[in-house]
Amino acid sequence: MATSDDTSILEETERSSGRAALRKNVQAAMALAGAVRSTLGPKGLDKLLLDGEGRIQVTNDGVTVLEAAKVQHPTARMLISSSSTQDRVARDGTTSTVLITAEMLQNAWDLVNQGVHPTVIAAGYRLAESQSQIILEEVSRNLKSEKEILQATQTCLAGKGESSLQGTLSVLAVEAAAAIAEQGEDGIKADPTRIKVLANKGGQSSETHLVNGIVIAKRPAHPEMEESLEGGKILVIDGALERQQMVMDAKLKITTSGMLQAFRDKEQELLTEQVGNVVTLGAKILVVKDGIDDYARSMLEAKGITAYRRVERKDLEQICITTGATMVHSANTASAKDLGSFNSSRQELWGDTSHWILEGSTNKGQTLITRGSSEEMLEEVERCFADALGVACQLHEEARLLPGGGATQVALARRLRRYAETIPGREQLAVEAFADALEVIPRALAENAGLDSLGNLLELTAAQSNGEDDWLGLDLRNGTISDMDKVGIREPLRISRQAIKGATDSAVAVLRIDDILWAKQDAQVPDEVQQRLDEQYG
Ligand code: ADP
Ligand code: MG
Repeated sequence: MATSDDTSILEETERSSGRAALRKNVQAAMALAGAVRSTLGPKGLDKLLLDGEGRIQVTNDGVTVLEAAKVQHPTARMLISSSSTQDRVARDGTTSTVLITAEMLQNAWDLVNQGVHPTVIAAGYRLAESQSQIILEEVSRNLKSEKEILQATQTCLAGKGESSLQGTLSVLAVEAAAAIAEQGEDGIKADPTRIKVLANKGGQSSETHLVNGIVIAKRPAHPEMEESLEGGKILVIDGALERQQMVMDAKLKITTSGMLQAFRDKEQELLTEQVGNVVTLGAKILVVKDGIDDYARSMLEAKGITAYRRVERKDLEQICITTGATMVHSANTASAKDLGSFNSSRQELWGDTSHWILEGSTNKGQTLITRGSSEEMLEEVERCFADALGVACQLHEEARLLPGGGATQVALARRLRRYAETIPGREQLAVEAFADALEVIPRALAENAGLDSLGNLLELTAAQSNGEDDWLGLDLRNGTISDMDKVGIREPLRISRQAIKGATDSAVAVLRIDDILWAKQDAQVPDEVQQRLDEQYG
């Protein structure tokens, strides 16, 4: 044990080593977990965050709380980074990951004090992790219906925001995920980043809706162009509709005024030809990445074509997805098969900015329009939607479910304890410590609902063992132990798999840091810790 003398020496040299470093790291992890523990689950409390500029944010999202905390401690940063990884990879399960990691470290600390070396604990944790992945596969089951995707998004949103908003967002997330899911070479892919999110400040958050297409802050290139169209063809040009730019070193020696006129005439002729091609193809809307010449604009307007210019490449791609158009380099090379089709096109004024709303015909590439009275509200709506969308997308990619309500963790803990008995060395103790750590989830869920956490945990464990039923969990809507399948509290397998992996990775990384350099005033991440972090997460 570090004595107070040790501690003061450590502070002076700004260096801690071995056991003292581990103790500090465990404390940091527990402090961090303490900050988010009360947000876990449907009965979790919201946190009021205040940033440097005095902005207030109310959230129930663990990773948001952590990221806002601006913690300097290297271990704490590592845990936050693993929770952010969880957020990126699995979208959900971020709070759980932090709680499990901290608990693993606390339990490891207890073992260290009983004389077990951190390396042995790390090895035991690794064993337990691989075994957990096998158990998770066994406990999980296939998705049976579309309805179960909706229920999983509802479980994911439980306790976040108002209940009317949860209802709206879960339905929208399911719809959006179905629109982007597509058969790839190796299975179904549903990339949530394909859904664009735009905020339209004002109104009620439950007025948040999906547009079957794209919304861009733009108006037509000419004030006289038609703003509202009910269906038609669209041409997308990854280029310009302008007079040819002269090549740098091509010198044109103009000797007579007639030559200049002839040159200009030729340029206009080329533009007319291009516009002519757009007309012949029958496009009602023309979208161009770069500029459109004044002359061409007037011509397009006269021909009844609505044109949009200077549209970003990313938006052009989205337009192609939603209308089925193929991008071409110039109007001259476009052919009929390059055109896409849209169902409607209109302008809407949001605040002071006119927005172009284009609804495509493919049912792909949707845009979420968030509504809410304040920036903070809009952000919370966006975060909740992203979580629900992530869950729905994952179920398209991997259609397997696990029980929620602490059932999965209790099942893991029970089976891991049996597995521990088969391990001869001291790693056995570490596997048991790992199993205990997972129980922080059912405990915290019960605790946050004002229930007796130990009592519920014991009752749940006994119920699962007696019936050999891994799907028994705690339904916090009524505080009873129920079959999570019957009550519809299920989560994607991938979230738990990633949470267990992420938590083990961070706990093991901390256990391996036996010597930590620690700048007293400006607690930055030491190089070697950073290096390990980079290896692990970079
Ligand atoms: P995380 O950031 O880890 O996802 P959440 O605050 O979203 O944390 O809480 C998720 C936990 O809440 C999961 O363990 C999930 O099973 C549980 N949960 C959600 N709804 C219910 C419910 N109705 N009854 C019991 N547990 C629930
Ligand atoms: Mg969650």
